[in-house]
Amino acid sequence: MNCPYCGGECDAHFEHNGLGFEQVAPYVCMNCGATVIGPYDDPRELSEEEIRTGFYKP
Ligand SMILES: [Zn+2]
Repeated sequence: MNCPYCGGECDAHFEHNGLGFEQVAPYVCMNCGATVIGPYDDPRELSEEEIRTGFYKP
């Protein structure tokens, strides 16, 4: 997955829960810090760009 803002590599944190790996944090851009909009964050007002890209602005 690549960042829609800077094109950098995005990575997420996974932990083993006994059955398999579970994603425990949203994808985040290693380059600029943009994060994927997902169920991990408090709801907040999104800009049109954020809705379009699915990423919070860094
Ligand atoms: Zn980025």
